[in-house]
Amino acid sequence: MPADDLLARLAALLGPRRFATGAAIPARNAADAAGGAPQPPLAVAMPETTAEVAAVLRLCHGAGQAVVVQGGLTGLAGGAHPRPGEIALSLERLKGVEEVDTTSATLTARAGTPLAEVQAAAEAAGLLCGIDLGARGSCTIGGNVATNAGGNQVLRYGMARRNVLGLEVVLADGTVLTRLNKMMKNNAGYDWTQLHIGSEGTLGVITRVVLALHPRPQAVQTALCAVAGTGGALALLAGLTARFGPGLIVFEAMWHEFLEVARDRIVRARVFDPTPAAAVLVEVAMGAAADPADAFADALGALMEEGHLADAVIAHSEAERARLWAWRESVYEYSRLGLPIINFDLGVPRVAMAAAVEDLRALARARWPRSLTVMFGHIADSNLHVVVAIDPADGLSEVAIEDAVYAVVAGHGGSISAEHGIGVIKRPWLGLSRTDAELALMRRLKATLDPAGILNPGRVLGPG
Ligand code: ZN
Repeated sequence: MPADDLLARLAALLGPRRFATGAAIPARNAADAAGGAPQPPLAVAMPETTAEVAAVLRLCHGAGQAVVVQGGLTGLAGGAHPRPGEIALSLERLKGVEEVDTTSATLTARAGTPLAEVQAAAEAAGLLCGIDLGARGSCTIGGNVATNAGGNQVLRYGMARRNVLGLEVVLADGTVLTRLNKMMKNNAGYDWTQLHIGSEGTLGVITRVVLALHPRPQAVQTALCAVAGTGGALALLAGLTARFGPGLIVFEAMWHEFLEVARDRIVRARVFDPTPAAAVLVEVAMGAAADPADAFADALGALMEEGHLADAVIAHSEAERARLWAWRESVYEYSRLGLPIINFDLGVPRVAMAAAVEDLRALARARWPRSLTVMFGHIADSNLHVVVAIDPADGLSEVAIEDAVYAVVAGHGGSISAEHGIGVIKRPWLGLSRTDAELALMRRLKATLDPAGILNPGRVLGPG
């Protein structure tokens, strides 16, 4: 089918409000949050129903037309960023929470529903959505599931995958697969839903999601703890886990360099003086403790006596809690540094974390001494984020820095992506984290589910 024919059929299917070409394409559909130069797609289709998603894909499949699937466009791996000649399939109008079932403790939502709306619907029913991340206001639940998103509460509730009970997915040829399962136990045949979670839209388009909800944590306490480096942070993690078990819901580590940048250039306040080797932002749900604040302070005092932390600041109000979170959230303000930034999202086994941090520090000192290299992460989940703000005087390209960092990570048995996915940006290094046999299996699955190769081509897997 010639492209003009396809565009005319899509326009007839969706009408002018939900299909745009040329100058009518909204600017937002030309880029995702990964920072690439805007690339307007050939057209934007904004279906409102699963049947319309299926009809759009059936037409594109028949025409061999490449499609980029878009949700909230907050991804950091370039997966939703259009490539030349692609039609954007945006799920922004396929939205709304369809049901909260308090007996089953499940929530069913359309894919384009912003995560914050899903969270609010769960809370209104007295329950909690286990998926939470910084982009909650604009990311969508379909995108969260398609990328198997992580975030700040993974140590308690798991990645997106662990929160999903059922899915509805449209395959590349328009076939609708519906498994809106609400049961924790259901072993009737292959669980194809798991295959789509984290596939980054390369195997199908998620249109509806059934989430398992959780009880809301009670009496959450917050503290910023100073520790003696990576080993100290892991010892604190062990101490808190032994005391509070599943009550520990946040454990965000920040290393010395990160704290200094925050202190001098972003938060512009002091919390520990001198700046410790590392600090950890901790949140614990104290449940039904008679005086949760006292019990939390007593526990931190005991951990200090055992040598698990050097100092701690406890939040006694919502304003103090926000001030402690400002340290962790300082990284969202790095555009103020005015330098090109690389955001690494590394997986490192906890047992190798201390050595990996030291190796990355030594690497930065030796290879890009003028650039700024800071580390923070959800280390309870084996997730280390490294940010490099590149000083051009170091004379190194982004790719050279990426090559060097990923080599260190691979040497420690880590992963080039803990939670952001591969997209297009990390595709060249996927072979460091997966074997040739695994990559061949991924290609076979892709060819089986999307034989014409129209869905998010070039994301996760390269050609051939
Ligand atoms: Zn993260």
